[in-house]
Amino acid sequence: MVILKTIDEVRKQVKAWKKEGLSVGLVPTMGYLHEGHQSLIQKSVEQNDRTVVSVFVNPMQFGPNEDLESYPRDLEADAKLCQETGADIIFNPEPSEMYEEGFCSFVNMTGLPDALCGLTRPVHFKGVCTVVNKLFNIVTPDRAYFGQKDAQQLAIIMRMVKDLNMDIEIVGCPIIREADGLAKSSRNIYLTSEERQAAVVLSKAVKEGQKLIADGERNAKVILDAMKSMISAEPLADIDYVEMVNMDTMKSIDTVEGYVLCAMAVRFGKARLIDNFICNV
Ligand code: AMP
Repeated sequence: MVILKTIDEVRKQVKAWKKEGLSVGLVPTMGYLHEGHQSLIQKSVEQNDRTVVSVFVNPMQFGPNEDLESYPRDLEADAKLCQETGADIIFNPEPSEMYEEGFCSFVNMTGLPDALCGLTRPVHFKGVCTVVNKLFNIVTPDRAYFGQKDAQQLAIIMRMVKDLNMDIEIVGCPIIREADGLAKSSRNIYLTSEERQAAVVLSKAVKEGQKLIADGERNAKVILDAMKSMISAEPLADIDYVEMVNMDTMKSIDTVEGYVLCAMAVRFGKARLIDNFICNV
């Protein structure tokens, strides 16, 4: 496994692979890798001859008061995990390699980003779509792997690939959790031990929502109220949103039917954590 810093080096290697008829999988990440990322890499290694993992804390997807500077980084540990999991390349560019002076072209989607995380993070998905598009152009993968943990991002990337006729299969992968249910996240490192304990309430709320639906409840407000009161009972939790939307349109729903995403973002101290479940009723 090699760590490449420049676009030219990645292009050269991928071209050589393609000449040999090898398939290529891409796993875009911001690094500080954990078992959630690892599950995506594993899937890519299973389904492709070669796997590229990008490790890039993309400045464009962070708002002015967000955690760009403090976002955790550990390339050495990331390289170990990638090597052990069977990845072939880590692409770890500097921001200046990705955004040359004068950079002014963006992928700006309407509609789907105007909900859930997009409301409190207005520049986020423009940055995500732009960087993912660039990574697709650089790596030209056959398949790219994204976690359901970031369900809105997954829906947005699938829509972008469809709308812009990108010849790439998007593979969505399930949420990997800690033993007590907390979804694994690079941002869990921000939690104090009290906040870490408190954050388990998110996966409990997910379970509660799933149970209500399994028991036949179809009124979205009833389900959301139950989840919100559970989360609000935790003094360290500060709710950003708990919402139910149609998975394809990201529009709020009143009645649970079709392909539904129930998603939440909740702050615990410095950490803003997300969790969700998807159901097809
Ligand atoms: P990030 O480094 O946070 O940008 O995440 C990179 C990719 O890993 C995204 O597609 C995430 O959805 C995915 N991912 C992050 N955490 C998890 C998790 N706990 N389970 C599954 N996928 C995850």
